[in-house]
Amino acid sequence: MIYARKQKQMITRLMEKGIKDTAVLKAMAAVPRHEFVQPGMEFQAYDEKALPIGFDQTISHPYTVALMTQTLQVTPHKRILEIGTGSGYQAAVLCSMGARVFTVERIGPLARRAAEKLSAMGFRFLSRTGDGSMGWTTYAPYDGIIVTAGAPVSPTSLLDQLTEGGRCVIPIGSEEGQMLTLFIRAGDELKKIEIEPLSFVPLIGKDGWNTSK
Ligand code: SAM
Repeated sequence: MIYARKQKQMITRLMEKGIKDTAVLKAMAAVPRHEFVQPGMEFQAYDEKALPIGFDQTISHPYTVALMTQTLQVTPHKRILEIGTGSGYQAAVLCSMGARVFTVERIGPLARRAAEKLSAMGFRFLSRTGDGSMGWTTYAPYDGIIVTAGAPVSPTSLLDQLTEGGRCVIPIGSEEGQMLTLFIRAGDELKKIEIEPLSFVPLIGKDGWNTSK
């Protein structure tokens, strides 16, 4: 496989950057990231960068995907809600780890393309097109919630959909840059841990940035 060497290099780089969760590394070594980028960009798919996927959106850096997934502490059968399906790559990594994946994307053509791709790869998941800033109450609660777009504040409706001990990883800040933040539910309390600064496209919706954008 012509991308195998690049994928191996990506895994080595992720380990050097501090990713330790072997299940995350195994999943990212298995999922063909080049199949989630736009035609003509396959050779850049394993580089440490975000790439355009159309509609002004991006597939996140490999390190961002690895860090967020590691922070979620995913194990088989955990119920994980992803907000911002985008290319479907993050969802594929979660499915590959054995999680039960629920994913929401606000841009219809992206949602459809990702769902077709994930299904063609044999992954099982549930997906929905719409504003995910308020979560997906139909299937709540979730053991993990991963928001792959930057929010102005922590949306309480999302955090209400966490199980006891559940973890939500979400970038919070301005539209220019955010702090990757982890919330862990403990009864009525939410423990908040700041992980590291990152930069994401905006979470657009009722509990995100202005819908007129
Ligand atoms: N996880 C994606 C992947 O693996 O390719 C990358 C996601 S991209 C950085 C962020 C995505 O969040 C975009 O596709 C964008 O349309 C979506 N998004 C933004 N606001 C949203 C909302 N309120 N509900 C659902 N999706 C949203």
